[in-house]
Amino acid sequence: MQPTQGKLHLGNLEGALRNWVKLQEEYDMFACIVDWHALTTMIERPEEITENSFGVAVDYLAAGLDPEKTVIFIQSQVKEHAELYLLFSMVTPLGWLERVPTFKEKRDSLTAGAEASHGLLGYPVLQAADILLYRPYGVPVGKDQVPHLELTREIARRFNYLYGDTLPEIANVLSDIPVMIGLDGRKMSKSYDNAIYIADSDDETAKKIMSAYTDPKKIRKDDPGHPEGCAVFSLHSVYNRENADNVEKECRAGARGCVSCKRECIESVITNLAPMRERRAELVKDPGQVFRVLEQGADRARAVAGETMADVRKSMGLL
Ligand code: SF4
Repeated sequence: MQPTQGKLHLGNLEGALRNWVKLQEEYDMFACIVDWHALTTMIERPEEITENSFGVAVDYLAAGLDPEKTVIFIQSQVKEHAELYLLFSMVTPLGWLERVPTFKEKRDSLTAGAEASHGLLGYPVLQAADILLYRPYGVPVGKDQVPHLELTREIARRFNYLYGDTLPEIANVLSDIPVMIGLDGRKMSKSYDNAIYIADSDDETAKKIMSAYTDPKKIRKDDPGHPEGCAVFSLHSVYNRENADNVEKECRAGARGCVSCKRECIESVITNLAPMRERRAELVKDPGQVFRVLEQGADRARAVAGETMADVRKSMGLL
C-alpha cells in the first residue's frame, strides 16, 4: 500500500487488509508500505510520507497482521528495491509503459502545468521489482486488479528470456473482495473525502453514517427503496451480514426507514471495529513497538531480497 494517507479507511480494510489477515494463516506474507511510490504524487511533501508510513503500519497491526507471520516493512528501508528497479528499467521497453492505462490516468490528473515525471512512467517497473524481489508464489488481488500484474509477469518473462530462468511466473491469489461505497455514494476513497477510517472515533463514525448518502427516491419510511448504491446498505452487508438480507427485503418493501436503518448500521460498524480500534489506541501510545516491527521486518525482507539480487546479478553476469 502507498502511504499517501496516514490512516486507512474501511475500503482499504475490507478491500485488502482483512483478506491479508486471513491469507497469513496459509502463506508467508510480505506486506510492504511503498513510500517511494508515494513520491510520484507527493514530491512536494516527502516528510508527510514518512509520517503516513507509520500510520499505515499502525493500521496493519491493529487490523490483525501478525509480524510473526507477515513481514511488515517500509520499501525505502530495503535498498534492493531500487537496484532491481534500475535493472528492470533497462529490460523494459518504453512502449510497454506508455500504454499502461493508469499512467495516462495519473498524467491527466496532475495539476495544471505539472509535468509527468520519469518516476510516474516507471511506476509499474518499481512495482514489478517490489513483487519479484521476494520471488513469491503470488500476489493477493481483487478481480479488477488482475491486469495490473500483467506487466510484472511480462518483465519477469523478458528478464528470464534474456538471462535465463531466475524469476517466477507469479499467480493471482484471487479473493472475493467487497467494494465499499463511500458516504457520498461513490467508491470509498480518501481523495473523495467520503471515507470512514479505522482511526475514527465512535462519535465520528456515527456522525458520518447519519449523514451518508441513501436512495434519493426514498423520502418516507414506506417508500420502496433501492439498497444497491446505498452507502448504508454497503456497510450493512459487511458489518451486519447476518441481518443484511432482512435489511434489503424491508428496504425494498418500504418497511424500513433510513434513519432507523442508519442507527442499526452505526451499532454494527462500531461493535465490529471496537477491538481493532482498541488495538490501534494501544499501538499509538507505544510507537516504539511499531518501529521495532518495521525494523525487524526490514531486516527479514533484506535477507530475502539480498538472495534474489545475488541471483539476478549472477544471471546477468554482473559483478
Ligand atoms: S432503508 Fe437503509 S438500505 Fe434502504 S435506502 Fe434507506 S438507508 Fe439505504
